[in-house]
Amino acid sequence: MTLTDANSESANSDQIMGEPDEFGRFGQFGGRFVPETLVPACQELEDAFRSAWGDTEFRRELSALLADYAGRPSPITECHRLSEELGYRVILKREDLNHTGSHKINNVLGQALLAKRMGKTRLIAETGAGQHGVATATAAALLGMECRVYMGEVDISRQELNVFRMNLLGAEVVPALSGSRTLKDAVNEAMRDWVAKVEDSYYCLGSAMGPHPYPWMVRTFHEVIGIEAREQTARLLDGGVPDVVTACVGGGSNAIGIFSGFADTDAELVGVEPAGGAAVGRKVPGVVHGSKSYLMQDEVGQVLEAESISAGLDYPGVGPEHAHLADIGRARYESVTDAEVIEGFQLLARTEGIIPALECAHALAWMSREREELAGKTLLMNLSGRGDKDVAQMMDVLGRK
Ligand SMILES: *Cc1c(COP(=O)(O)O)cnc(C)c1O
Repeated sequence: MTLTDANSESANSDQIMGEPDEFGRFGQFGGRFVPETLVPACQELEDAFRSAWGDTEFRRELSALLADYAGRPSPITECHRLSEELGYRVILKREDLNHTGSHKINNVLGQALLAKRMGKTRLIAETGAGQHGVATATAAALLGMECRVYMGEVDISRQELNVFRMNLLGAEVVPALSGSRTLKDAVNEAMRDWVAKVEDSYYCLGSAMGPHPYPWMVRTFHEVIGIEAREQTARLLDGGVPDVVTACVGGGSNAIGIFSGFADTDAELVGVEPAGGAAVGRKVPGVVHGSKSYLMQDEVGQVLEAESISAGLDYPGVGPEHAHLADIGRARYESVTDAEVIEGFQLLARTEGIIPALECAHALAWMSREREELAGKTLLMNLSGRGDKDVAQMMDVLGRK
């Protein structure tokens, strides 16, 4: 392991949501804790990303794909009936309307274009519930690249439909057979593949986590959510900003995307985690998957299994920038139980005719529980994905009423 000097002063510790310092740290979190063999690959990636992001041609190409393929800009929706029920004003940012059904496509198109620009012909990805795998397989099909997705053996049997989708899109799905055979094991397998085949392969990571430059790069690709939402809410609110901006947090990519648009305002930023995966809530720092952050672990430092009704939030860690935002008090993180999530899921469907992804139902659950605290305010919620993928599971949970 190479550990970058943890004691030197952060270059821009007082700049909220700017670039990480030269070690890839946000305050005391982040960094690049990887085996020696991965250091050059991470450095090559950082250099390539910096160069691409500074190139107007790359930015133009990505913008065109986001508009003509993914369907951006996503609208915002004022929720009249939900607002009436909760006693405060609710606005949704509609990432559920993107191609493939969630925010994930923003990051994946960015990284796939970058991979092409780096001369790579093969995309590697990890996936838990299968949503990031599907998005990556989609981008690979679009750009004519090979694609291999690592998925825990347990998740493969739980998510047959997404495995079939990835196959339809031309991707190979490889079971991760080690450990608990779930998401964190799939990340390990993907990293191993990347080390072995770095010449022609690109590791397309699915959230704002992992070694530097991933957390920063993934956030940058999702900043489009916050930029659009800031303009759209300003138009709706006569130049004002919402009092509260909220989103669900797994690894933290959709939340960091929308938070970035409001970090310089006095809007309160609230991330909502599942009670069974409350990495930030527990405030235990540690290193997993290449960076330092808060994560769920036992007394001897063993990483714990996250457990949540939503497979998309079943991750024991959280992106390092969230740990930093929590640490400096710029954002706060709340957690909700599965029972509350089931209520939140139904609430949006019933009042607004929108079936949310179970991940988003976490934010809705918090919004519903805290209606007294939020009374009279204006709240913007990132609706990160649609619920089509979750209806069969909910049919079981609700007993086919
Ligand atoms: C994957 C996913 C999430 C969790 O990932 P983040 O990186 O925390 O955003 C949330 N919502 C939806 C709809 C997802 O598909």
